[in-house]
Amino acid sequence: MNLKEKMKRRLKLNRPSLRARARPPKQRTAMGQQFTAANLPVSLSMQVCTACEHHQYPPAELCGRCLGDTLRYQEVNTAGQLLSRSALHHSLWEYYKRRIRIKPWQIGSVKLRCGPVIIGHVAEDALQAGDDVAVFSHSDASQAAVLIIVGATTPIATPAQRNDIVTALCLGQPAEKKGGI
Ligand SMILES: [Zn+2]
Repeated sequence: MNLKEKMKRRLKLNRPSLRARARPPKQRTAMGQQFTAANLPVSLSMQVCTACEHHQYPPAELCGRCLGDTLRYQEVNTAGQLLSRSALHHSLWEYYKRRIRIKPWQIGSVKLRCGPVIIGHVAEDALQAGDDVAVFSHSDASQAAVLIIVGATTPIATPAQRNDIVTALCLGQPAEKKGGI
């Protein structure tokens, strides 16, 4: 690698605003990486305690209810109720800065019927607190699992349907900048 390339690489690292392609945060803990892997083949998979059936999210090494250490990933019911929603108008992360310039970023919290409360990206503008919703997981542009919230009647049974929703949210693609490095 010559000096010019080295300088470019350093600039790219230190000045995310110059990047041609900005991506969402990819860092995950070891438990988060397991969650991503377990969720690849299904719409939503969560840790379930084999001792007490507790559905656990976010993932952890021990069961939050009985401290059991035998938690297995299992496909779970995607249904839940939207508790609240909010719009982000500011972010310190370059990917979201670029997205927010186009439109405030929509997030919400959901109480799943299987137990946990999750925070996810809201895919539909019409959803309001109290509405029945469905939650599915999907890989974002950094190949890490994120949770997406849609209306209860939105079809999400097939990978293609889920992929279309993520593409419409622009979560599957990097946020690009013309002339970036
Ligand atoms: Zn347990």
